[in-house]
Amino acid sequence: MRRLQVSEIAPEMRLGPQETRHLQVLRLRPGERLQVFDGRGAEAVAVLTEVDAGHALLHLDTGAEAHSRGAETPQPITLAIALLKGDKLADVVRAATELGVSHIQLLVTAHAEARDIGAQKLVRLRRIASEAARQSERRVIPEVLEPVPLGQLTWEGRGLLAHPGSAARVTDLLDWQTPLTLLSGPEGGFSESEVALLRGRGAEAITLGPRILRAETAPLALLGAIAATGV
Ligand code: SAM
Repeated sequence: MRRLQVSEIAPEMRLGPQETRHLQVLRLRPGERLQVFDGRGAEAVAVLTEVDAGHALLHLDTGAEAHSRGAETPQPITLAIALLKGDKLADVVRAATELGVSHIQLLVTAHAEARDIGAQKLVRLRRIASEAARQSERRVIPEVLEPVPLGQLTWEGRGLLAHPGSAARVTDLLDWQTPLTLLSGPEGGFSESEVALLRGRGAEAITLGPRILRAETAPLALLGAIAATGV
C-alpha cells in the first residue's frame, strides 16, 4: 500500500496542490487505499475519494489498521553532530533517518568545518529526512534542528559521546530506560575542553573501535551498532 504524509490524521483529509500532484504522479485513482502518516508517530489507512486538478480528498478507513514496517526505537534517539563541509551532512541525515533517529541536532564546535548553515541547506536537509523516512516506512520524520553552539546543548536522558580511545562500548550501555543523545565530532574532533564540558554534563564516552573513522562515518557506525541490536 502506498504511503502518504498528511498534516493531520482526521476523518476527512483534504490535500493541497503539492500532495495531489504526488498522487497523480503515482496514478492513484478514487477507491485506492493508502497508508497515511503525520510524521509525528500517528498513522492510519485512508481511501482516496476524490482526485482532481490541484485538490484531493481522503476518508479515514476506521476498520483498517496501518501496519508500517518501520517500528520506532523504544526511546527517541537524537544525533547531535558537528557541522561538516560540503554535502557530507546530506548523506549523514539520509542514513541516520534510515537507522532510526528522531532528531538531528546540528552543532557548532571549536573545530567544526563550518560555522553556520544556510537556510536553503537546512530546508534541503529536512526534505532529505522526510524522503528517507518515507522510503524506510518510518512513522516519525526526524526533525533537523538549526545549529547551536556546543556550549548551549542540553539533553534529556542519556548522552553518549563518540570519543576515540574510550573503553566503553555502546552495546554495553544501552538500556532504553530514557531518551538517548549521541554526540559525534567534526573531522578535527572535539577539543579537550569540549570533551570535559560534555563529560561534566553527564555524557558517557564510548569507542567505535580502534580505527579513527571520518566525521561522516562515525555517527553511522554508532547508529549501525545500535540498529544491529535489533531495535
Ligand atoms: N583526531 C580526532 C580525535 O581524536 O577526536 C579525530 C576525529 S574523528 C575524524 C571525527 C569524530 O568521529 C570524533 O570526534 C568522534 O566523535 C568520532 N570518532 C571517529 N572515530 C572514532 C572511534 N574510533 N571511536 C569513537 N569515536 C570516533
